[in-house]
Amino acid sequence: MPKDFLAGVLPEYDVVVIGSGLAGMTSANILGRAGHRVLLLEQHYKLGGLATWFKRPGSHTFDISLHGFPFGMIKSCRRYWNDEIASNIVQLKNIRFDNPMFSLTTTFNREDFTKLLTSQFGVQAESVNQFFDAARGMNFYDDQSMTTGQLFEKFFPGREDVVRLLMEPITYANGSTLEDPAITYGIVFSNFMAKGVFIYEGGTDDLVGKMQAELTKNGVDTRIRCDVSKILVGPNGVKGVVVNGREIKCRAVVSNSNLRSTILDMVGPEHFDPQFLSDAQAVRLNNSSTQVYMALKPGVTIPESTGDLLFCSTAPLFRTNLLLDRKITSRTFSFYYPRTRPTGKERFAIVSSTNANWRDWSNLNEQEYAESKKDLVETTLDALEQYVPNCREKIEHAEAATPQTFHHYTKHQLGASFGTKFEGLAVSRGLPQQIKGLYHAGSVGIIMSGWLGAINYGVIVSNEVDQMLCKSAPAISVD
Ligand SMILES: Cc1cc2nc3c(=O)[nH]c(=O)nc-3n(C[C@H](O)[C@H](O)[C@H](O)COP(=O)(O)OP(=O)(O)OC[C@H]3O[C@@H](n4cnc5c(N)ncnc54)[C@H](O)[C@@H]3O)c2cc1C
Repeated sequence: MPKDFLAGVLPEYDVVVIGSGLAGMTSANILGRAGHRVLLLEQHYKLGGLATWFKRPGSHTFDISLHGFPFGMIKSCRRYWNDEIASNIVQLKNIRFDNPMFSLTTTFNREDFTKLLTSQFGVQAESVNQFFDAARGMNFYDDQSMTTGQLFEKFFPGREDVVRLLMEPITYANGSTLEDPAITYGIVFSNFMAKGVFIYEGGTDDLVGKMQAELTKNGVDTRIRCDVSKILVGPNGVKGVVVNGREIKCRAVVSNSNLRSTILDMVGPEHFDPQFLSDAQAVRLNNSSTQVYMALKPGVTIPESTGDLLFCSTAPLFRTNLLLDRKITSRTFSFYYPRTRPTGKERFAIVSSTNANWRDWSNLNEQEYAESKKDLVETTLDALEQYVPNCREKIEHAEAATPQTFHHYTKHQLGASFGTKFEGLAVSRGLPQQIKGLYHAGSVGIIMSGWLGAINYGVIVSNEVDQMLCKSAPAISVD
């Protein structure tokens, strides 16, 4: 008999959280800690969503999205998870850039960037300071008509090299482009510039394991392999979900699933007013990614001077569309030294990430897809050779992930790596006004994507759900 992943589940909860990405898990944890009855449903066989990892023979573990996040993660993890998780967050000090315009190493914070921009790029200190202050002062309620390209033109007119330094890493971090609203750039860039780039020491597997333990401690009923097909809506708002063919009642739903799937598939267009529906249908998804995971043979090492993160490109100029092109010119290499997993076997891994378009991978037949993946691995090894000489002799395992892989494991439409473009944020925020008890928390609007954005969005939404549940507490029967 197939295993029942819902065995022992209650007929009713206060909240059902659909999806265990960082936003979903954070919402579930906060609501569980606040005493609500929470059911967390994840369709995949492990928790974490895009914050995930996989293992291969030879004690190799690969992280998918553990490349770097801002310092703010420490505070968010301490407050909404626990001290143990927060204390494992460490800074990456060797961020390298190598492209036809410049090669440099930086700690990726305001102080070092100011030094680089004034000394190496010859920009006036005053312009640099004004730019940093303008970016830091940006918030969601600002004028949204200025684009990131216009912001750069205002402070660094005609300086393609400066734009590349300032923009390339952020495009990798959240898929934003020069045409997106400047606030999406300013907020994320300033978060990084506050203190630099950080990662979780211990690896994603350790982090998610600790989060899972915390969820259990806080009474969250967590289920894997539980695919929600429907969010049920009645005259008074959300009334339940259908999961693995079974109906479970609830007073609120937090969907961490893709925003468009939540509205158009799980709830259904008939439940929304026409203007909201048309806004939701117009929400653009963000781009997807490809990755190549490479494990070094046991005993083979690479010097730490190779860097932690390396933004490399052979394109003469920075162009957002080139960063997405199947004919890859730009890659971010993440180098994982044994210190990433201090308690594991001494292993080195390298992950190459590139932004990608779904359409370049979705229309291939089986053979073309296999060949394209092979080509992705080979061309990546060619590019790596410059930084890790004789890399083919040193690597014992290499494999690739494509937009189809990300879609397969997370159900994100078009394999979106960073949720939706900016307009998704207003639609996500507008859900509870459309249907009482319906919320969305997860990568949207560029600002709310990435590990920190997703966690913080989970916090914001769980506070709103908590208030709603407390206000509309079911009447206590006294007879
Ligand atoms: C290649 C790559 C590299 C990245 N690098 C970084 C980085 O270095 N730094 C950084 O900060 N961010 C990075 N990101 C982005 C970051 O990983 C994500 O923004 C973040 O993890 C998203 O969290 P989320 O809460 O939005 O949910 P997601 O991680 O998108 O998870 C959604 C969850 O919902 C589940 N789900 C969907 N539908 C259903 C359903 N119907 N029923 C049940 N469950 C469902 C999915 O299985 C999934 O577990 C990267 C992303 C990618 C793809």
